[in-house]
Amino acid sequence: MTDQYAVFGNPINHSKSPAIHRQFAEQTGQDLHYAKHLVAEDEFVKTAQAFFAEGGKGLNVTVPFKIEAFHFAQELTPRAQCAGAVNTLALQADGKILGDNTDGIGMVHDMHNLGWELQGKRILILGAGGAVRGIIQPVLAEQPAQVVIANRTVSKAEELAAHFHDLGDVQARSFERLAGESFDVVINGTSASLGGDLPPLPKGLLNPNASCYDLMYGAEPTVFLKWAAEQGAVKLADGLGMLIGQAAEAFYLWRQIRPEVIPVITALRRQLAEKK
Ligand code: NDP
Repeated sequence: MTDQYAVFGNPINHSKSPAIHRQFAEQTGQDLHYAKHLVAEDEFVKTAQAFFAEGGKGLNVTVPFKIEAFHFAQELTPRAQCAGAVNTLALQADGKILGDNTDGIGMVHDMHNLGWELQGKRILILGAGGAVRGIIQPVLAEQPAQVVIANRTVSKAEELAAHFHDLGDVQARSFERLAGESFDVVINGTSASLGGDLPPLPKGLLNPNASCYDLMYGAEPTVFLKWAAEQGAVKLADGLGMLIGQAAEAFYLWRQIRPEVIPVITALRRQLAEKK
């Protein structure tokens, strides 16, 4: 029987995960089926239990179920443990369900593909929500000089800085307190871009040759990336490569084969441009 995989979320209609995993499966000759499921907000556990009971091999989990998936997993990878959130569940040989978080490593791999260096850099992360939780540990593993987390609700940035304190130099700030500071890499992990908004960022935030990355992606550059270009950033990227990178890590966890991400990024970028 063909191995069954799926993504659970609410909403889910927009999800590109089935298209990405279809391309990975074709590329690597893997016999698998990957579906998307709209799951009612209070039915994640029931639906996930039924999926695995019916022989499902693995799940991706997106908004709003990443914390529930963390609790649902019977075992956790160190990076999922660190993030406190799970975006990938995998049935293991012993029948236990393993929870992983591949979002952050997906972003870091995308940055490597883009030729960006994080080691020794001063990095600013905007936002302190679920996505940022997932990227901090993989970013710190690249040994930056310092990571500063700035968030509208400062207490959430402070919580994250305290949580990851043992893994490196992590500081919290309000947006206002960023005035006078400068960074080599700025990562926008707020959902402000979704509404066409920009966090209130002071001028002079970027060092020469700065790189700016928005976790959000789209057919057009995001508001944040337009701001970054105006402020003199020389390297700009949106989160399409992260989306495909996190999927590639999930695919590797499930199938023990690493798919090629670049052709899939190129194909999805073309599709986005055609829909403009
Ligand atoms: P959450 O809802 O968990 O967090 C949202 C964050 O954005 C919070 O820090 C919130 O601040 C901040 N925020 C929201 N609106 C504004 C605003 N107008 N001004 C300033 N700050 C604001 O969202 P996620 O962490 O799940 O997602 C964040 C982004 O990352 C989204 O754009 C999402 O699409 C993207 N993403 C991309 C992925 C990819 O693979 N490319 C994967 C996962 C997410 P506060 O705490 O004060 O409310």
